[in-house]
Amino acid sequence: MRKHRYAQFAAIWILGTLLVGCSNQFSQNFNQVTSEFLHLHNGTSKSNATMSPVEAKSNPVSAVAGSSISNHNDTSNSIAGNNTINGGTAAPKANMNTAKPNFNPAKIQVVSNPESILVLVNKYNALPDNYVPPDLVTPNIPFLYQGNPEIHLMRKVAADALVQLVAGAKKDGIYIYGVSAYRSYATQQTVYDQYVATQGVQAANTFSAKPGTSEHQTGLAIDVSDSTGQYAVEDGFAKLPAAKWLAQHAYEYGFVIRYPKNKESITGYQYEPWHIRYVGKDVAKLLQKNGWTLEEYYQHLYK
Ligand SMILES: [Zn+2]
Repeated sequence: MRKHRYAQFAAIWILGTLLVGCSNQFSQNFNQVTSEFLHLHNGTSKSNATMSPVEAKSNPVSAVAGSSISNHNDTSNSIAGNNTINGGTAAPKANMNTAKPNFNPAKIQVVSNPESILVLVNKYNALPDNYVPPDLVTPNIPFLYQGNPEIHLMRKVAADALVQLVAGAKKDGIYIYGVSAYRSYATQQTVYDQYVATQGVQAANTFSAKPGTSEHQTGLAIDVSDSTGQYAVEDGFAKLPAAKWLAQHAYEYGFVIRYPKNKESITGYQYEPWHIRYVGKDVAKLLQKNGWTLEEYYQHLYK
């Protein structure tokens, strides 16, 4: 999301906060299945790089995660709960629910694995409209704006990694600030509707994500800036030391620059050096090494 849209976005913060006041009850309703899922994936278990196909197939996590989301409005042809290993591929299927995404840009499909830290959300893979991440917390990092607590929220695994990233940057003399992290479906709906009402649906679709298709709804993404806020969420950020540090080091903490330069045709978004997405260290390292986007990761996984 770009800065010039924040003015209008701020206007609906109050409404968003009211709506999210209801949604936050979900985050307190932390269910055991998710807890186990996150624990197993919190860097303590084997990645698929070290897991045999048999182990991966018998790993109950995918099945648990798949069954835990079966109530969602899933219209995809996902293989959640039936993961198979792509033996020999360069793309390891970490033991996380990597349901096959929709590769057809002509239609929007609802993802079957919204709680997976590898969930692919883009213009044609949408989150269920009732999806609220189960474990939203506020990372203990400095934020540029204090107005709306909703946009400080992230899923716990991503929040913990972000704290590490900010501390690592600080050691290198780089001061990373949070700008905007979680955004609820309801907030995105309000933002999108406002743009459609004022500028028409065609124009709105060129710069505003349809509700459900914003990666910010996953709780795994955050827009960041440096401590000055200079060029926050603007193209100029790319030339700042903070952006260069992120491009070089974010992967070490499990984050990727989600919308890299020259990948617009793949991601559907222009270069956004400030938008980082948590995918876990194994996959982040793989993407960094190969210069892949998350879309390309899935293309290699399911080719
Ligand atoms: Zn963003």
